[in-house]
Amino acid sequence: MTDSRDPKAKPPDRVRTRVVHGQHPGHVGPASTPIVHSATFGFPSLEALNAEQFKGAASAYYQRVGHPTLSAVEARLADLERAETGLLFSSGVAALAAVFITSLQSGDHVVALRQCYGGTHDLLQWGAERFGWSVELVDARRPEEFAAAFRPRTRLVHVETPTNPTLCVVDLGRAAEIAHRHGARLSVDNTFASPLGQHPLALGADLVIYSATKSIGGHSDLLAGVVLGPRSLMDPMARTRRVFGAVPDPAVAWQIERSLKTLALRVQASNANAQELARRLSRHAAVRQVFYPGLEGHPGHDIAERQMEFGFGPVLSLDLQGGALAAEGAVAAFQLIVHGPSLGSVESLASLPAHTSHIQIGPEGRARAGIPEGLIRLSIGIEDVEDLWNDLDQALTRAVPLAAGQVGRSPSGD
Ligand SMILES: *Cc1c(COP(=O)(O)O)cnc(C)c1O
Repeated sequence: MTDSRDPKAKPPDRVRTRVVHGQHPGHVGPASTPIVHSATFGFPSLEALNAEQFKGAASAYYQRVGHPTLSAVEARLADLERAETGLLFSSGVAALAAVFITSLQSGDHVVALRQCYGGTHDLLQWGAERFGWSVELVDARRPEEFAAAFRPRTRLVHVETPTNPTLCVVDLGRAAEIAHRHGARLSVDNTFASPLGQHPLALGADLVIYSATKSIGGHSDLLAGVVLGPRSLMDPMARTRRVFGAVPDPAVAWQIERSLKTLALRVQASNANAQELARRLSRHAAVRQVFYPGLEGHPGHDIAERQMEFGFGPVLSLDLQGGALAAEGAVAAFQLIVHGPSLGSVESLASLPAHTSHIQIGPEGRARAGIPEGLIRLSIGIEDVEDLWNDLDQALTRAVPLAAGQVGRSPSGD
């Protein structure tokens, strides 16, 4: 095969093209990365074996150390983020664990958001008990208080934006500046925005983390995580992955590559649906408050508009007039929207954070993080927006009289 491409041609630069083609536009050979179903590899000599082993995560040596399907997909993810390199993990939490274990030693200090993912709090607390690091939680709604949280041994600031589940927005450029001024690094869990919607490294972050289970995978059918960043920080991370062994299956890596090709279509469709539903829900009689950064009245709207692209993410949350009882009633009344955890999938999902993602922090933790007990978190999928609206409207209209004890009354229907 002769390759007729101009070697000096500049590859297409736009993110919606790069999700489809990776770093090899118009490439020759398989259009889809082959799944190498082999956990180990054979070598003609000791020299050849050692040379391959030395390449680490980029090698074809032994699945936990280096595997060609994993490294091909890691290179794609890194390219998308404009990161030097990246690593896949067996879950988002495994990716977060690798970041914390690699960045923090006994006696070190980490600053994280009170509004972080519940599993992140669990992990930081566990590390404080078992590894002897210490944690300070700051409120995403009060960035002016971040600076006071630093200690002489603060090594890491860890944030999410928009946060789960109340969609607080953190100014990433400002967070990076504060972290660096105090000699700490900034890690950003970018799961809610997706690699299409926000580019933390370009805004000054040192490491980016994804639960690929969410928008990257996008079909509720895989569990994986990603960490991306400069080689100087990622090489020790590769060692952590090798030591703890949280490596995904090559078939999962392939599923991620396949999903990446439709990431832009899925994220844009979900974000547009979420924006429209947030607008309509903010005028619904059963709703006390809608949390969505795409709404102009949201306190983080201006920052989100500056640092996000292609919309404001698939997640919005609702606080109902009827509180927790109404929320439980509404979730039970959904006919189309799936009642279950997770987010960023093609199907719309609803969950009650007090019972799922934020169960670990208890009622006091939720109160301090500004999470109403009756909050419904919705992750909006790519269905027809009118069907989603009809389902939301009937469930919310039914749930309000239920909460008020007026079970016999029929829904008003408008
Ligand atoms: C789901 C999620 C995680 C954890 O990812 P898993 O793949 O479930 O381990 C971490 N951070 C955020 C923001 C998430 O939504």
